[in-house]
Amino acid sequence: MHEMSLAVAVVDQVETAARSRGAIGVSSIELEVGELAGVVADALAFCFELACAGTVVEGAELITRTVPGTARCTPCAEVWPVGMPPCLLCPGCGAAADGLVSGRELQIREVRWADPEASREEAHQPITEES
Ligand SMILES: [Zn+2]
Repeated sequence: MHEMSLAVAVVDQVETAARSRGAIGVSSIELEVGELAGVVADALAFCFELACAGTVVEGAELITRTVPGTARCTPCAEVWPVGMPPCLLCPGCGAAADGLVSGRELQIREVRWADPEASREEAHQPITEES
């Protein structure tokens, strides 16, 4: 399952960061998940519970922020929300978008450590899944 390997990757990365800073626990992890990244938030939350059991991450709250998918048209510089299923034709001129501006993100945005000082850390780390 995609969500399971993702959850394991998140726990691994946070665990490594926790170890390197000597953190005793994690209070929350905020993830940025693109609308088009193909991740089901509920499934991810469920897998996260399983993946963090017995680690320093156990008990952390998983916060998932959905990033809407947007695309851009080069000729008219229009940026539009692609929606679901994604519409990749420019609403202005009908040209195909050159690509997505956002919507495929999958990254750890912020980790809040359980230790009293330095309680939050901006992470912006892409989640690297082992395939
Ligand atoms: Zn256009």
